[in-house]
Amino acid sequence: MGVMSFSIPRTIYYGEGSLQKLAELKGTRAAIVTGGNSMKKFGFLDQAEALLKKAGISSILIDGVEPNPSVSTVMRGAKAMSEFNPDWIVAIGGGSALDAAKVMWCFYEHPEITFESIIEPGSMPSLRNKAKFIAIPSTSGTASEITAFSVITDPEAHIKYPIVAADMVPDIAILDPSLPMTMPAHITANTGMDVMCHATEALASIAATSFTDPYAIQAIRLVLDNLPTAYKEPKNLVARENMHEASALAGMAFTNASLGLVHSMAHKIGGEFGVTHGLANAILLPYVIAYNRKSSDKYAYGEKILGIDNLSDEIQKLNKEMGIPSCFKDCTEVDFSEKKFLEVLDRMSKNAFADPCTLTNPGKPCADDVKMLFD
Ligand code: NAD
Repeated sequence: MGVMSFSIPRTIYYGEGSLQKLAELKGTRAAIVTGGNSMKKFGFLDQAEALLKKAGISSILIDGVEPNPSVSTVMRGAKAMSEFNPDWIVAIGGGSALDAAKVMWCFYEHPEITFESIIEPGSMPSLRNKAKFIAIPSTSGTASEITAFSVITDPEAHIKYPIVAADMVPDIAILDPSLPMTMPAHITANTGMDVMCHATEALASIAATSFTDPYAIQAIRLVLDNLPTAYKEPKNLVARENMHEASALAGMAFTNASLGLVHSMAHKIGGEFGVTHGLANAILLPYVIAYNRKSSDKYAYGEKILGIDNLSDEIQKLNKEMGIPSCFKDCTEVDFSEKKFLEVLDRMSKNAFADPCTLTNPGKPCADDVKMLFD
């Protein structure tokens, strides 16, 4: 297999109260990046600002990062960073805020690069010449706080671009379970199934190794044991803590083993229809496992260790328990009219086939297989 590597953030603080670690940061100026108003509304933004102040760090706020963050949001944030000259980027919020902050950081470090140039794998210049990066997730889902990935959307072209650069792995991740406690049930469900999908795709990836399998399997175990409780009892600290850790563990697995066809397809249906990332993953996952099973013994390997009969059945059970539909046509959050679906099906299937995540999928689909799975 040749030389491989395993990278994760240098420091991960986790457990109740870990947000307080912000008060121990050494630096002078921080750019805080966040999404809509949830972090403000629940008081986490004020806490973060106060803790940084205690550390003698002045801060600016770059807020308003939208779900599925756009190239223009990234450019707006990079400009604000260049004017303030921070030595820390502090990203607090869901995966969208964390992802946008990562790419703002890239443009702050290197104003000369273009968005087109960094989409190419291996093209990112080195980071940390101006600032280091701290990630504080408020959803238990994307694991952007751990990963070398960011997903940025071009809304005009209806395309979500995965950007991959080892240097984008944050320096510090803070996993404080009080943040995800404020998630409403449907966001808990969608983001929780994103964790399940990361862990399952990392386990079955053709780039999985003995370094990544234990994280993937433990993440699946934690999701099966804790997601239903986190969904039904949002203030259950143990379930929230376990889901937050499951997300990070799945992140450690997939940032090093990569993903598979579910993600290739979710990126494209997310770009075309705006469907929430975790929801798209949850709907697609059982079908892609069924397609892949003939090409991989890793599902059976995982099922044996976890003591379960069939992973797809467990996933379908979880989806049903949390009101996640079994096909896109039954999905009420966006317009899945038959006409529009058929119009974009060819393009979506070809683009998904060409997505970098398809490279590590255990089954080797052709564009028609992808079309059949979408349908
Ligand atoms: P999100 O960040 O888009 O947030 C979804 C909604 O939840 C928003 O309205 C947000 O304001 C709200 N929210 C977040 N935290 C909350 C809280 N604690 N309480 C109440 N409301 C809260 O959702 P996400 O699923 O975390 O991120 C999705 C994005 O991440 C997508 O763009 C996806 O493509 C990307 N992604 C990135 C990676 C990676 O490795 N970087 C992996 C998977 C997905």
